[in-house]
Amino acid sequence: MKLGFIGLGIMGKPMVRNLLKAGHDVVVYDVIQENVDNIVEAGAIAASSSKEVARQCRIVITMLPNSPHVKAVVCGKEGVLEGAGEGDILIDMSSIAPGASQEISRSCAGKGVKMIDAPVSGGEPKAIDGTISIMVGGDKAVFVQVYDILMAMGGSAVYCGDIGAGNTTKLANQIIVALNIAAVSEAFMLSTKAGVDPSKVFDAIKGGLAGSTVMNAKIPMITGRNFKPGFKIDLHIKDLKNALETGHEVGAYLPLTSSVMEMLQNLHCDGMGQEDHSAIAKHYEKITGTEIK
Ligand code: NAD
Repeated sequence: MKLGFIGLGIMGKPMVRNLLKAGHDVVVYDVIQENVDNIVEAGAIAASSSKEVARQCRIVITMLPNSPHVKAVVCGKEGVLEGAGEGDILIDMSSIAPGASQEISRSCAGKGVKMIDAPVSGGEPKAIDGTISIMVGGDKAVFVQVYDILMAMGGSAVYCGDIGAGNTTKLANQIIVALNIAAVSEAFMLSTKAGVDPSKVFDAIKGGLAGSTVMNAKIPMITGRNFKPGFKIDLHIKDLKNALETGHEVGAYLPLTSSVMEMLQNLHCDGMGQEDHSAIAKHYEKITGTEIK
């Protein structure tokens, strides 16, 4: 099938590679030419704008940083809705505010375009393996129709409810990941300060109740002093901002989220916004003057 794909960053590139591997023709666009060139080398076809992608493809996937980017790419000048027609499908896989998904979906409906929100979890390694977890909101019939396309990129695709439900699920995911990295940083700082080798602590506890996918992924990065993203601090700030705003709108209470949000903001102010979110450990290191290694 011919598919459109807009947003060829850390996640978008490997996701397109997996669609190509599954036998799809993929028409791509990104504002960064280097990202386009990289994926054209792998067999994708370049288009000159988001509108042009939508003109050529009946199903378009977007993988962009945040709500304003998706609004601009879908509803803006030279955007998807200028090139799309009645019955076309938009799969937005970016992590954005659930309210923004609902707003963009209303604009899509005005042109007869059906939209689902389908953000992902798992990060770059799982995007490369084609095993990301996909959480979906929108019309269930559309979810069923595109299920095989989603599964060409993911290890699971779960229908969560109406439009925006995918992104609400993703916000829950992002709270758990951020708080887990902070908990791991705090615990390993304790062991380092107390003179117990962090690698021994990791080996001893990873199989117990404290073990987690987050700890398995991030402790080797922290102790190996590798903070190359991965998932950038600035993107996690974006997610927790969306979580706090959405939480306040619906009457939730998120005290731990706001604490970790300020740790991320502290790192951003220190010029570390483009580092991996495992750099939350550096917040603890700065305060204690001690490296976890
Ligand atoms: P990224 O910053 O690496 O990539 C975003 C891409 O979008 C860039 O190539 C950028 O040039 C492109 N873009 C921005 N504005 C555009 C426009 N107007 N038109 C066309 N292209 C445009 O980000 P990423 O890490 O790939 O993340 C993408 C989304 O996936 C984000 O919402 C992020 O929160 C989410 N996500 C990321 C990870 C991860 O580990 N990186 C994991 C799960 C979910």
